Amino acid sequence: MGRYAGPVCRLCRAQGEKLYLKHDKCYTDKCPFERRSYAPGQHGQARRKLSDYGLHLREKQKVRRIYGVMEKQFRRFFDMASREKGVTGETFLQILERRLDNVVYRLGWAYSRRHARQIVSHGHVTVNGRKVNIPSFLVKAGDIIEVKEGSKSKSPFREIKEGSVPNIPGWLDLDFPSFRAKVLGLPTRDQIDVPVDESLIVEFYSR
Ligand code: SF4
Repeated sequence: MGRYAGPVCRLCRAQGEKLYLKHDKCYTDKCPFERRSYAPGQHGQARRKLSDYGLHLREKQKVRRIYGVMEKQFRRFFDMASREKGVTGETFLQILERRLDNVVYRLGWAYSRRHARQIVSHGHVTVNGRKVNIPSFLVKAGDIIEVKEGSKSKSPFREIKEGSVPNIPGWLDLDFPSFRAKVLGLPTRDQIDVPVDESLIVEFYSR
């Protein structure tokens, strides 16, 4: 599955808000959005009033950019969510949260989701004892996620171990020093701290 390989700060500028896709830089005055908060490109500074369609599209793009998922897979996840029982928007976010790269990020084993994606594709992570190098792999309740034994002494895990214990969401349980975590259950909406109105995405795809 492909991924966006361009400059990530451009995504914040295109979105018109900070998406915090990088690590520390997002919180410093080096953040490009602090200096140029308009969209990139020749007409980036032109004033634009968004149509109703534009508002829905922007919310959809926001979630896609935050999780770093390409449109085809994003749509596939949405279709999966709409086939399941329950509130489609919430189930959709739940599926995105269950991606292995997101879980690695949530566990504090990576500085960003992009970094987490790299960690997974480089084969540093196991699920239930087996190496999984597919960032879009979906974890389920009861799964045990670990950093491979041989990787624990390497960067970035060595540095992470020396840092403070990360704040992790309640649906995950982490044994910090051993880089071993368990998925306690599926995340509820209040455990997903992504500032979006998912109902707009449901409406977008229901048109
Ligand atoms: Fe966005 Fe962070 Fe880049 Fe700022 S530094 S533009 S918040 S990704």
